[in-house]
Amino acid sequence: MNYLLLVNKKNPVPEGFYPGLSKADGKYCEEKCAKAYLQMKAAAMRHGLKIKLLSGYRSAAYQKMLFLREVNKLKSIGLSDEEAYFKANESVALPGFSEHNTGLGLDIVREDDDDVYEEFEKTEEFLWLIKNCADFGFILRYPEGKTEITGYIYEPWHFRYVDEYAVKIKNSGKTLEEYLTYRK
Ligand SMILES: [Zn+2]
Repeated sequence: MNYLLLVNKKNPVPEGFYPGLSKADGKYCEEKCAKAYLQMKAAAMRHGLKIKLLSGYRSAAYQKMLFLREVNKLKSIGLSDEEAYFKANESVALPGFSEHNTGLGLDIVREDDDDVYEEFEKTEEFLWLIKNCADFGFILRYPEGKTEITGYIYEPWHFRYVDEYAVKIKNSGKTLEEYLTYRK
């Protein structure tokens, strides 16, 4: 497994890529990532903080359903097919172009949350995660002010498992895209 695998709006999941999956919080994710997440969750718990995995691995078929649902929603409010397609891609990745299709991208929220939200960044849980996630192999994947590079708006809930590279990436202050370019 290449834990530096780059999947974004320009780079799809490689053909024939099927990660070994296991469950954490009832959701599938890549097996080593699942294990690391559970260790991180246990550590957070020791600080009185309860986190939950809202979304882990998504198959390309499920991603397609999410994308089409967004397109239809936009069409129902009057956008043309083409407009709806482009607009939908601003918030939902095309099938195969989402980091969730790798099993290495996780949406993490507080135990009582049932959706993601930007104000998550103000919670104790987020502050703890941002400080400690690299020790468990995770980075915040879509930081604020990096939309031009990552293709995504700021997502304080989306963490990416990069295994042993997490501390190096965190200390570099770079996004995964920037880190990979710089490494070459
Ligand atoms: Zn996500």
